[in-house]
Amino acid sequence: MLVVMQTSATEAQIEAVCGRIAALGLRPHPMPGAQRTAIGITGNRSAVEPAALEEMPGVAEVLVVTKPYKLVSRDLKPDTTVLRFPHAPASIGGAALAIMAGPCAIESHEQAFAAAEAVRAAGAQFFRGGAFKPRTSPYSFQGMAEEALKIMAEVRQRTGLLIVTEAVDERSLELVADYADLIQIGARNMQNFSLLKRAGQAAKPVLLKRGLSATLDEFLMAAEYVMSEGNYQVVLCERGIRTFADHTRNTLDLSIVPAVQRLSHLPIIVDPSHGTGKRNKVTPMARAAVACGADGLIIEVHPRPEEALSDGMQSLYPEQFAALMQDVRRIAPILGREVPAPLVPAAATHAGATR
Ligand code: PEP
Ligand code: MN
Repeated sequence: MLVVMQTSATEAQIEAVCGRIAALGLRPHPMPGAQRTAIGITGNRSAVEPAALEEMPGVAEVLVVTKPYKLVSRDLKPDTTVLRFPHAPASIGGAALAIMAGPCAIESHEQAFAAAEAVRAAGAQFFRGGAFKPRTSPYSFQGMAEEALKIMAEVRQRTGLLIVTEAVDERSLELVADYADLIQIGARNMQNFSLLKRAGQAAKPVLLKRGLSATLDEFLMAAEYVMSEGNYQVVLCERGIRTFADHTRNTLDLSIVPAVQRLSHLPIIVDPSHGTGKRNKVTPMARAAVACGADGLIIEVHPRPEEALSDGMQSLYPEQFAALMQDVRRIAPILGREVPAPLVPAAATHAGATR
């Protein structure tokens, strides 16, 4: 069920409708949009009686939602969600493309800063890097944990880049939420529902990667889990799925970008690094992702990929990333998008981590 408020509805009228929904033992999710506010309702086991809300002042209409997801749907919010970040010019979902880049994993202070400086100069606004690494083998490098988060916080302070890093379980989520600007939930955890709920209670936005075999509906339902807990700041990420094709590590399913955009107001970015697993395919697929309308890119870049402790085969050299950004700058205007100018470290004022 979804309550659409009149364009002229006042804050007090919206609050009154939310209060009535809560009094029915349900949870209201007010979503202000460009034209009007709509209020999603969750917590109902069966259909809500519309008459209880229909006649309230400021209500335009009460709609029954037939899709399994409600809060992620464009029915609730016709305009695309734009994520903004305190004290930083970056955004996700607006005209500016969100460019995230950095190594698969933080390996050392020196490696992190070399990568960060390169991606900042080329035009990224977000620095990615794993602190907790979910690896296929338990004997592979597992990440530097909180030490990596501290290095990333220093990167933010010195460069102005916002920090994206993955939480692999509920315990790491607490730490990641303290340090990161965007909490990444990895592909292997896309259906870890208790983790999704915890992410839904976090005070930071969430980057949700598509599971290796997730359908569009399963992907959207995972985002619905996060939103149902009250965190509406969710970015989706296509990162490749398992298919019979073996010329790439995964098959990057770019068609999910327009498919998501048709159904959901949430922004969607593309990860051509994990999506292809091969350095020589990252740039072409990154260009294609921008061309098909993605809201941004997340790309693995390492100062010395041949020495990387994880995912070196798919990591771009800094100069390859810089060249890709030149291409992105030329493709973006065709889609009505732009790439912001590189951040100037001296002007970076972001206050940094809470720790
Ligand atoms: C990553 O971004 O480093 C990562 C592990 O991604 P995914 O969860 O998509 O495999
Ligand atoms: Mn990786």
